[in-house]
Amino acid sequence: GSPVCECNSCFGGPDCSQFAPDCVADADSGDPLFLEPFWIQNAASSAMLVAGWHRMSYTFTNQSLISRLLEDHIRKLHTTVGNAVTQGRFIVFGAGSTQLLNAAVHALSPDNSSAPAKVVASFPFYTVYQLQTDFFRSVNFQFQGDASLWKNKSDSTLNFIEFVTSPNNPDGQLKKAVLQGPHVKTIHDHAYYWPHFTAIPAPADEDLMIFTLSKLTGHAGTRLGWALIKDEALYQRMSTYVKMNILGVSKDTQLRALKLLKVALEGSGKEIFEFGYTAMKERWERLSNALSESKRFSIQEIAPQYCTFFKTVRGPSPAYAWFKCEREEDKECYTVLKEAGIIGREGNLYGAETSYVRLSLLKSQDDFDALLHQINKLVAQEDGTK
Ligand code: PMP
Repeated sequence: GSPVCECNSCFGGPDCSQFAPDCVADADSGDPLFLEPFWIQNAASSAMLVAGWHRMSYTFTNQSLISRLLEDHIRKLHTTVGNAVTQGRFIVFGAGSTQLLNAAVHALSPDNSSAPAKVVASFPFYTVYQLQTDFFRSVNFQFQGDASLWKNKSDSTLNFIEFVTSPNNPDGQLKKAVLQGPHVKTIHDHAYYWPHFTAIPAPADEDLMIFTLSKLTGHAGTRLGWALIKDEALYQRMSTYVKMNILGVSKDTQLRALKLLKVALEGSGKEIFEFGYTAMKERWERLSNALSESKRFSIQEIAPQYCTFFKTVRGPSPAYAWFKCEREEDKECYTVLKEAGIIGREGNLYGAETSYVRLSLLKSQDDFDALLHQINKLVAQEDGTK
């Protein structure tokens, strides 16, 4: 049947088109609902019915915890998109990429070392790296903040693990590792390395790459992530982590992911990315236009780049706006936005100054429309005070 529509809290009236004056635009979370209309368009082909007797076992028929068919589809999708080299790589599934981030830290840390690995990332970085590393406190690893501070020490005998997020959350830039050296290990988090959010200049070819279904098909609730791993010993250590933790990713999750990826690969395998890119690009352009005259507020610049997937130079379409309040008196930017009816996420959570706020652009269309409405209102006030 057709989905039941509810008005976002910012809209009212019979067709949800009237703007509620006391609306608060929630641009906080990274819930990727921008893809919901794609799945409504493909409702029949993406639907599934699972009989009660199906897939009851802990394992698949070959005793594996991983669906061979799903693994093949993931490899095929990477080849179609050209965003990652999968030849010569092992695959580990996790309950979302969240689980694999810590599996990777665990697996890359020395055992029984008197010197725990120093886990770092360069500012601004995704908060969870720090929260999770601190939470799962271990004698083998310790979060040590900004990677750049360790640049001169990375060729020493200290063990480093650097998280590199490319494109980056929060600012959408294609990032490179800051540290290099014989004792530096790198976790490449490619959650957003899909044509929805960025040009694909070349296939990623790193030793450890982490991807997630969440930002690819938008099914964050399905909780599926995968790691592409070159080294067999590292693959074994990460597999052990997932086994000890959850004894393998839910078979229902794997079935659903397979169904979704089949739809994503249908035809030329381009449709979902054309949909995603068009939606995100339009949002970015509308936000950029709204702020183009503003002296008080700005968003990050992302250079147009050649995309090997679309075979053309393409403009930005990031998942988040890295929003800045330019004036000294607005340096508590989160509060400035909150008073204007916009909930973002404070820049200091990413290790940045409080003059920055992350605004989520990948939620539902209603969420984005509400955000844009409030931004327009804020910028109009600025005109009045010029
Ligand atoms: N890495 C990055 C950079 C993210 O932004 C997110 C989700 N916001 C994740 C990993 C985790 O996503 P999931 O657990 O849904 O795969």
